[in-house]
Amino acid sequence: MSYLFADIVLPLAQPAYCFSVPEGMELQTGDAVSVQFGHRNIYTGIVWRLHNERPDVKRIKSVGRKLYDRPLLDDKQRQMWEWMADYYMCSIGEVMRMALPSMIKPQGRDDEEFSADEFRPRTEAYISLSDEWQERERLEAECERISRRAPRRSQILRFLRDFPATRRNTLGEIPRRLVECDATMLTALRKAGYITINERVREVERNENVSFSLPTLTPLQQTVVEEIHSSQAKGKATHLLHGITGSGKTEIYMTLIGEVLARGGDVLLLVPEIALTSQLIQRMESIFGSRITAYHSKLTMLRRTESYMRLLRSRGGELIIGARSAIFLPIHHLQLVIVDEEHDQSYKQSDTAPRYNGRDMAVLLASLYGGNTLLGSATPSLESYANAQAGKYGYSLLAERYGESQPPHVILSDTMRAVKRGERKGHFNHILLRHIEEALSRKEQVMLFQNRRGFTPYIMCSSCGWSLRCPSCNVTLTQHRTNNRMECHYCGYTAPVPQHCPQCETADLKPMGFGTEKVEEAIAEIFPTARVARLDRDTSTSESAYSRIIRDFESGQTDILVGTQMITKGFDFGRVSVVGILNADNLLFSPDFRASERAFQLLMQVAGRAGRREKEGVVIIQTSEPENRVLKQVVQDDYEAMARCELQERHAFGYPPYSRLIRLTLRHENVQLLRGAATELVEKLRKSFGSRIFGPVAPPIDRIRGLHILQIMIKIELGRSMARARQFLQNDINNIVSQKEYKTVNIAIDVDAQ
Ligand SMILES: [Zn+2]
Ligand SMILES: [Zn+2]
Repeated sequence: MSYLFADIVLPLAQPAYCFSVPEGMELQTGDAVSVQFGHRNIYTGIVWRLHNERPDVKRIKSVGRKLYDRPLLDDKQRQMWEWMADYYMCSIGEVMRMALPSMIKPQGRDDEEFSADEFRPRTEAYISLSDEWQERERLEAECERISRRAPRRSQILRFLRDFPATRRNTLGEIPRRLVECDATMLTALRKAGYITINERVREVERNENVSFSLPTLTPLQQTVVEEIHSSQAKGKATHLLHGITGSGKTEIYMTLIGEVLARGGDVLLLVPEIALTSQLIQRMESIFGSRITAYHSKLTMLRRTESYMRLLRSRGGELIIGARSAIFLPIHHLQLVIVDEEHDQSYKQSDTAPRYNGRDMAVLLASLYGGNTLLGSATPSLESYANAQAGKYGYSLLAERYGESQPPHVILSDTMRAVKRGERKGHFNHILLRHIEEALSRKEQVMLFQNRRGFTPYIMCSSCGWSLRCPSCNVTLTQHRTNNRMECHYCGYTAPVPQHCPQCETADLKPMGFGTEKVEEAIAEIFPTARVARLDRDTSTSESAYSRIIRDFESGQTDILVGTQMITKGFDFGRVSVVGILNADNLLFSPDFRASERAFQLLMQVAGRAGRREKEGVVIIQTSEPENRVLKQVVQDDYEAMARCELQERHAFGYPPYSRLIRLTLRHENVQLLRGAATELVEKLRKSFGSRIFGPVAPPIDRIRGLHILQIMIKIELGRSMARARQFLQNDINNIVSQKEYKTVNIAIDVDAQ
């Protein structure tokens, strides 16, 4: 049945617009089409609704053309987009902008520019014997006949005839690149009528084998797999696997993945962005091989686009491994979603709309397809843990290390006391240095964690207190040794390292604090024969640089690895016996209500790097607060105690998971105007939300890239209607930005702000 009109979503912060459907054009919802919109722009749009209700407008534009041979989205994906736009308070167009790789949605000022921007799949030549030579005996006789005169010809014909079926494409043709033969010969064979050559869209070779060589599970792992199955059978679609570092969660993932793939279903495995090149992927590849599609922002746009288009045609049995954006892929046979390190902050997109949480959307996506979700973590988020405690999620605890590995021994080392007793050298307490020395003498490895990159976070004049700040952000500039510049970590601004104080002209400038570069330099001075490397954003600008650092450490080419959070994720280095956390204080004291949870998770993760496989490792945490509750819980390896304390506090003060937080961030270059807008908005919001409104307050860094920032927080108790809250909020915001003077104030809404 064909329709007269189509509501079409465009990749803009706009509602869907109605276009007329040209006669004879058959459209389905989810189809991509070209449409003209605005002055002279042609966009790709998605058909959202087809109908026959003529809208009440004078002129209605018509759809240009249909772009692909099938819809880009199925109904479930469209439901997810709608849900996302509604929940995270943005337009479906903004979801579209994020969800589809840019090459799939070309745009241009005219048809020509649009077409030039369009995605053209890579093609490849495919060879097959022509129809008359398909018959085996006939071809053999021919090969015999010509074998004297043209031995090479008959050899190639036989090769083509005997080519294994498993390596042919779905039409039974042979990819050209698998035929060792020059172009002249192939042309001659074609001219003689022996073969046909077709140029086709490249097919990815897939291993259709369904028996995978899965790892053998320990009895404990086997029990967990059974627990997961039985809780799924009882209708709990989501299961939390709380497995300490080294307990072998990966083997459980593999078993569950293997089961789904074997019955032709798809699996989505989400991992934090940073862990994508890690050992987890390598291990998955060793078992599931060509079933895997990787999807993340480090891949080229062409690769991402090809993956999308290929999955669109898939008949099932796919394992997609990706960062949060992989939830947007067409995974039409989805049966299982696994979210590894489900507590990781990188699942939440905070910078642009939709400000979604990939973990939460994964749970939704699985439920739309009637599938299951497994959340895995050594230190679950309190949200997931509370859901498990309340019986909403199934729950399994895997508290034993896998194989021979031993839990590390964690020591708190009091920095203040070390200073008083003269037991500190530079940034290192003597106890840490002693352990490093012993480890090096035993040819074991060391990891040192410092949460700041660069050399020193700031340089200060010791006579007048001046320090060099960024002209567009309210932060000090960090000194970097490698290029010998001062750099802003928020906008990228750089300046030369100052030699004199511009205020008092003295040259008494002192470096304050320390970053990974300084740790690297200092430790190399203390242990001149040790091979030291550093892993942070500055040293891993490319994927190859990153992998090289990891590989060198893994193979024992490096003795000491200094790094930021990057060293904490997804690695299993067998020879690390000492892990040093150089300054735990800056993790503990942050105004965020999640600070303790975050500190616990991060410290446990860093600590988990020590002493895997056979050896007991030592973790030394340097702090000026050895009595701190969270640090003690880390030493005792007591997640439950941490969770109990934190959940009690959150309950008392009405923080998540006992409420939902919506954070409004207002930005403008004029601070006066910004304050005016924020104050007026708060007044309006108070009328609808009463005491649930907090702020406006300036965040710790209250100016970035020249824009001043103010934040307003809305806390909504569980059980209250979020839909109504959103309605009020949207009205009040519209009210502010529709005032002429506040038109230029940028207001970002972050639902479930982290
Ligand atoms: Zn000065
Ligand atoms: Zn800056």
